[in-house]
This record gives sequence, structure tokens and C-alpha cells, in this order.
Amino acid sequence: MRDGHARTRSDLVKLTGLARSTVTLRLEALLDRRWIVPAEGPVSSGGRPATAFTFNTGARLVLAADLGVMHARAAVTDLGARVLAERRAGIAIAEGPEKVLDWLIEAFTGLLAETGHTLAEVCGVGVGLPGPVSHGTGRPVSPPIMPGWDGFDVPGRLGARLGAPVLVDNDVNIMAVGEHWSTGRGTAHMIFVKLGTGIGSGLITEHRLHRGAQGAAGDIGHIRASAEAADALCRCGNTGCLEAVAGGGALAARLRAEGLDADTAWDVVRLVRAGDRTAVTLVRQAGREIGQVLASLVNFFNPGVIVIGGELADAGEHLLAGVRESVYSRSLPLATAHLNIRVSELGEQVGIIGAAVLVIEETLSPDAVDRSLT
Ligand SMILES: [Zn+2]
Repeated sequence: MRDGHARTRSDLVKLTGLARSTVTLRLEALLDRRWIVPAEGPVSSGGRPATAFTFNTGARLVLAADLGVMHARAAVTDLGARVLAERRAGIAIAEGPEKVLDWLIEAFTGLLAETGHTLAEVCGVGVGLPGPVSHGTGRPVSPPIMPGWDGFDVPGRLGARLGAPVLVDNDVNIMAVGEHWSTGRGTAHMIFVKLGTGIGSGLITEHRLHRGAQGAAGDIGHIRASAEAADALCRCGNTGCLEAVAGGGALAARLRAEGLDADTAWDVVRLVRAGDRTAVTLVRQAGREIGQVLASLVNFFNPGVIVIGGELADAGEHLLAGVRESVYSRSLPLATAHLNIRVSELGEQVGIIGAAVLVIEETLSPDAVDRSLT
């Protein structure tokens, strides 16, 4: 029912192969909880008009947050991941969990009031954090740029104040989920690469997020880059990491060394867009370095699509050209035969949508819907 098409009782009997009486009972239970509603106007199925039903995206609300290194976003969405209201602030994750989560709780309650809703309608809270998160507990684990957050009980703090289940994941994972939901539903296997100050990726396999044993899958920023980069020092303590040669922070530092005005990944993009030769050459070379690591992943994982997101994605074709050059020359022909490499079409909203989708998939899993009916 969630694809948005209205269906009659007869349609559902045909689709499911279940007895008409079973379908009727189930429909009544779902109607009672407003998971589905009668569609606008009767649908003609040849003979007399029959009532059709559709999934009710307004049945519950979702609170979604994308907490970045320097910015935070909070939104209220429906069960179709449609943003009903959104709030942003320039609050840094380094301000610590108490301050950031207090802002978030205030933002959520404010957004609900603005849209005329209450906490009672909320089915869950989804939160993305810019660091590793243990999937079992929803707690950050030794996040390198998040002082005070290590092991902090984010689900406990938010759940106690908001009275709803809380799902926490790292920001790249929620971006991968958001991209797959919005533009990639035809793609079973996808790599979403975030190129910001640092570098990370989220993996979708068989249409599902692949987190690995502890939730650390996809951390490609600390894979060793090419031999020429062997002595570049990384914030993880190692040398030669991809992030240390091709991350937005590293590129800005290289441009500063050349006498250019660049502090952040945004500055790198600004210089590329202004046509600065040094910046263009540097970004293209970074694309090649990233492409070399991705080429290994393509051989190993055989994705159908690689989506590039994050601030540096705005450097556009110069970056993409370098990535494509390495991937197509270093991956196996069978793995690249139908491989599509593109920039994310969702831009900054991809994280919020992904955080909402985490909650929606949990809320609407068959088991959870069954529990809501008994
Ligand atoms: Zn590293």
C-alpha cells in the first residue's frame, strides 16, 4: 500500500492471494488505526464503483535530525519522509551533547507547535551524528571531533524528553539511506560517498543499509591512498590515508600553502568555481586519488551506482572527471559495464530524509505494524 496507489479490496485479494474475508479483516484493523484511509472518490473496476484505500502518510509523524560538525538541522516529516517543517542552526557538535541535544529538543517541540501537532503523534526520532555510532546502543564511539560525546546515551536522553523510540546512526549512513529512498530505489547496490572536511561512505546492499558487525562499515577515509601520498599525516594518527590527501580539510591546507585564501571545503569549491587553476588541478587530482580507492571497492562490492555527496561534490565535473578516470581504468570491465557515477541530487536535505526513513522503515516493518494492531 505504501507506493501511493489506491487499491480496492478485490485488487488486494488478487495481489496477496489471501481469502477475501482475511483481506477484509486486515483492512478493518488497518483502517481502525488509520494506517490506511479510503481514497478520494470511488474507483471504477468495470462494474459498480468500489471503495479504494491508500496508505495514510499522515498517520504518524517523525522527528528527524542531521547534526553536522558546524551545523544542525531538525525537521518534522510525515511517513512519506516529506519535510513538513525544518529548523537549522549554526551550533557546533563540539559544544557537547547536553547543549546540542537541548537545542534539538527545543527545535523539535517548536516545530511540532508550528505545524499544529503534538508529541503524541510522533512514532520515532531519527538522528545522524558526524562520527562512528555503535549500532547496538546508538551511542557514539570515540568520535574524533566530538568532545564529550564518547559513549553518551543519545537515545536515552532524547527518548526521556520526547517519549518516542530514538534511532541514531552516523551521518554518512543516513545520507546513503536518504539517497536510496529518494533517487535510488531501482538500485539494489549503491555506494554513497561523502566528501566534506573528511571522507566517508555508506553502503546499500540488496536495498538495505550495510552497517557491518559494529556499525563501522564504509569508513573509507582511512584506507591507504596511492604511494605518492605515503607521508601525509592523518587526524587518525596514521599516514597516507585517503582523507589526509583528498579530504576537504587537506585540500584547503594545500591551497593555503600555495598562498590562497582557503579554510574549509566550501572555500575549495568556491575557488574551483571561480576557475582558479591551482584549485582545479588539485581537485581533479583528489578525484583520481578517491577514484583509486573506489576502484578497489568496485571490484570487491560491484555497486550499480556510486553517488558523490558532501560539500566537495559541488566542485562538480572537475572532481567527477578524476574519479571516473581512476575507476574506469582500474576496475574490472564486468564491474563497470553498467556502473553509474553521479553527484547526489538531494544536496543538503539528504541527511534529514535518511534520518526520517530509518524511523519510517522501523515503524512500518510488518512486525511493528502487527504489534500496533494488537
Ligand atoms: Zn586516517
